[in-house]
Amino acid sequence: MKYDAVIVGAGPAGTVTGRFAAESGAKVFIVERRAEVGAPVLCGEGVSRKIDDWKMLEGKRWIACSMDGARIFSPDGTMVKLSADVAGNETGYVIYRDIFDQELARQAIKAGAKIMMNTQAIRLLKENDKIKGIKVKQFNEEFEIEADVVVGADGVESKVGYWGGIETTLKPKDLETCAQYTLSNVDCKDAYCDFYLGKEIAPGGYVWIFPKGKDVANVGIGLLASLSEAGMPKKLLDRFIANNPRLKNSVPLRFLAGAVPVANPVETVRDNLLLVGDAARHVDPITGGGITCSLEGGKIAGETIGMAVDKQQFDQETLSAYEMGWKEAFGKKIRRNYLVKETLLDFDDKTFNMLADSLKDYKFEELSTMSLVKALVLKHPTLLMKLRSLIKIKSEAKG
Ligand SMILES: Cc1cc2nc3c(=O)[nH]c(=O)nc-3n(C[C@H](O)[C@H](O)[C@H](O)COP(=O)(O)OP(=O)(O)OC[C@H]3O[C@@H](n4cnc5c(N)ncnc54)[C@H](O)[C@@H]3O)c2cc1C
Repeated sequence: MKYDAVIVGAGPAGTVTGRFAAESGAKVFIVERRAEVGAPVLCGEGVSRKIDDWKMLEGKRWIACSMDGARIFSPDGTMVKLSADVAGNETGYVIYRDIFDQELARQAIKAGAKIMMNTQAIRLLKENDKIKGIKVKQFNEEFEIEADVVVGADGVESKVGYWGGIETTLKPKDLETCAQYTLSNVDCKDAYCDFYLGKEIAPGGYVWIFPKGKDVANVGIGLLASLSEAGMPKKLLDRFIANNPRLKNSVPLRFLAGAVPVANPVETVRDNLLLVGDAARHVDPITGGGITCSLEGGKIAGETIGMAVDKQQFDQETLSAYEMGWKEAFGKKIRRNYLVKETLLDFDDKTFNMLADSLKDYKFEELSTMSLVKALVLKHPTLLMKLRSLIKIKSEAKG
């Protein structure tokens, strides 16, 4: 089998890359080790409505709920509210992630990409040190898929980058370990995504409640792996649920455990190998959200592959258009938010309470992590010292 591009992983990053490569004329093959695209769901299922602007998904079947905003609770319960009616801009959706992923895969197939399920990439094929495809295993059968470009869209546990010689090891301080229940019997009349902070509640992370229906919500926790130990995410989540009046009568429908990279991105182009999505560490280090970056980065990767096929040039220089593209689109945001994450780690619960108290009546003009940081600096100019690296990134952006 010979293709222009072979993509490992049919998550959002892989299928969006496949779609845009195929739409630009490339012959694309996607392999996925799971038996069903998007299942089992390993996600809080919250996503910004800015994905509407990209017009990558048809219909609305993948939307569970439209959100009116977000509420952040400090350890002593002080609430900071970011409302759409005040900010007047986009909020977010809670989605059905399995339907969402399948809709993205459908679009890739419609554009001409082939997808093979139950098929696991097991190594790279090389000839004279040059990558020329992948070896895969489907049930007990192994076979080779040759391609001019290989894309690692294989998520947080990515092996493809490592096989290609890229340093992808995640330090425990750059990884969130997560647990989540989908709970029924939860009061969801307010369409707000709630975030609970505090060293006791979730060291180095937060607890989230994302309403998914009339009385169903995703309730999860992320802890920094460097501050966690075996079983701790579930233990702290169970304690949070038992102590929260809104959740104490809830009944679980689903439980999941997973991990999210909260790191700086790795090298994403090495010869004719590209990394996209979680494999590239394209995740917001503050929120742990990676869906938007997977879509945005996947589109840039796919179009770059199309351009390389057009020129019949599959060298590092040509494919580096992808790395330049994602750096332009969201690279500075990830670097900036990584520094904010590091700064927040130094805050104790008293500081979180004090900061929340100072922001509880603040009218946010925008629903974003940056608008929160701006408000904090406005209220507490001494924070500027802590966040000075951010200012450097901002001035680099302007220059
Ligand atoms: C608990 C939890 C909650 C989260 N909540 C949110 C949220 O609310 N909002 C948000 O934006 N993000 C959230 N995320 C992060 C989000 O899920 C990821 O950023 C997103 O899935 C990245 O997409 P991807 O395509 O890069 O990787 P994935 O969606 O992980 O897809 C990778 C695919 O590659 C396949 N694969 C791996 N290895 C191989 C192989 N060797 N051969 C073949 N196939 C392979 C996997 O089976 C998988 O299907 C959450 C993550 C977790 C764990």
